[in-house]
Amino acid sequence: MARDGFCLDLEPPTGEAAVVGRDALDALIAVLRADGYEVIGPVRRDGVIALAPVTTLGDLPTGWGDEQQPGHYRLVGRDDDALFGYAVGPHSWKAELFPPRADLYEVRRSGSGGFEVQASPPDDRPRAFLGVRACEVAALAVQDRVFLEGATRDPVYARRRAQAVVIAVDCGDPSSSCFCASMGTGPRVTGGFDLALTELATGDALVVRVGSDRGAALLARIPHRTPTRDELDASREVSRSAEQLLRRRLDTTGLRELLVAEVEHAEWDAVAERCLACGNCTSVCPTCFCSSVEEVTDLAGERAVRRRSWASCFSQQFSYLNGGTARAGIGARYRQWLSHKLSTWFDQYGTSGCVGCGRCITWCPVGIDLTREVVALRTRPSSATAVGMSLAEEL
Ligand code: SF4
Ligand code: SF4
Repeated sequence: MARDGFCLDLEPPTGEAAVVGRDALDALIAVLRADGYEVIGPVRRDGVIALAPVTTLGDLPTGWGDEQQPGHYRLVGRDDDALFGYAVGPHSWKAELFPPRADLYEVRRSGSGGFEVQASPPDDRPRAFLGVRACEVAALAVQDRVFLEGATRDPVYARRRAQAVVIAVDCGDPSSSCFCASMGTGPRVTGGFDLALTELATGDALVVRVGSDRGAALLARIPHRTPTRDELDASREVSRSAEQLLRRRLDTTGLRELLVAEVEHAEWDAVAERCLACGNCTSVCPTCFCSSVEEVTDLAGERAVRRRSWASCFSQQFSYLNGGTARAGIGARYRQWLSHKLSTWFDQYGTSGCVGCGRCITWCPVGIDLTREVVALRTRPSSATAVGMSLAEEL
């Protein structure tokens, strides 16, 4: 690889870094598309940064940032041309690997009065994910444990995941909802990617780190050059300053034990006064994996499809069991969700179910903030009324 100027010849080994210009990202998208990948990346749509197919660099939300708080999200124009100058939006990569709806198999009546069962055709398009943040790389690892490493390996997830190319991006401008540093997942991407990008403050170049042979092969096909010492330092500085911008914290000390011990805490009743049981938090969470299945029939009764759809532990029907609902009250459902995320997930999967992305905080319509709820559970074992009033004052 030439030291001065971009070249295409040598394949950088895994672990090496290079510098690319913005045009090279366009080339990367073109290379992936030429190889048959659908490239999914950030786009500005419906007032948010959404994840959708992109065909050129021009599809990215250049010059846009976001403003996030509990129950609040706004796009804001930036005073630069940053390509990735925003935090995570309401979409996560979960929807690409564990789709909100997936047909599993179909049953058709056969001529002989019986029926035939056929697996539904899989959606096997290879996908490349452009702009995966550190917390989202961590979320992919959590979902890998859930869908690939348990006794019930999920074929839909497995097929999509095996083909997925991960182009990660270091966060430079986290939102006020983010708390990845508390969860040890960000803001710098440290693994689980094919390529990782850091957008330099100068705006004209990006440092690229190689995380896999597949990433090295991709980098070899786009113009790149060796980074200078200053550029590598500047890339690390992006992550250092991002970490300093993180204001939200979650103290995880003894949290597993706390949540198991505090099943009768008054805060569960206090949060039930505010929670709408809408399930937004579970929809936006990149690790929530609950689903239900139903049979959908045609009007003639000739064909039925078994369809899997996302479900939420916040719905009353979710815990319906033997003629009754196990978690009838909203407080019990919030307790189930929070305790699973931060405590019993460890027992199931050996990891936290929360990666600190902050989506559930931003997209809760009433601004319920799990980090505040943990503070309440730690410090206010008083009456429900007192706890609720204190939290309302803080929020
Ligand atoms: S629980 Fe909330 S902060 Fe944690 S990973 Fe899910 S959406 Fe993100
Ligand atoms: S915590 Fe917020 S987002 Fe989650 S179910 Fe309750 S009201 Fe909806």
